[in-house]
Amino acid sequence: MSEVENTDVSVANEQNDYVEDGKNKLVVKCKFCGSKILDKKSAKYIELEKDLPLMQQDNNRKEGEIQNEPITEFYHVENMYTFENIGFTHTVENCKYLSCADCDAGPVGFYDMDTKQSYVAISRIEHA
Ligand SMILES: [Zn+2]
Repeated sequence: MSEVENTDVSVANEQNDYVEDGKNKLVVKCKFCGSKILDKKSAKYIELEKDLPLMQQDNNRKEGEIQNEPITEFYHVENMYTFENIGFTHTVENCKYLSCADCDAGPVGFYDMDTKQSYVAISRIEHA
């Protein structure tokens, strides 16, 4: 039998607990130290599929191997100055990974160097 893609998973998250009018309804903070990353309503909610390296890599992984996970929900930030606090970790090809400016937890998203747009992974931040 052929493999079935998970296209039947309906995601009705146009409006949810943390999105209002297509924007982040709540303040976006670091999960680990609570540092404020984005103010309310400063970023657009988008669905986009992108692999990001895991925040905590398995110590048993093969040397040089990076463990990724697919992320599908992001906040789109058009201008870097929109961020309250943000840091960078490392650069891979045309993207820089974003990290918490205070505790360096990350990647919490990525910055596309070609388009100069930033994307914050919703599963990696906390709302407050
Ligand atoms: Zn932090």
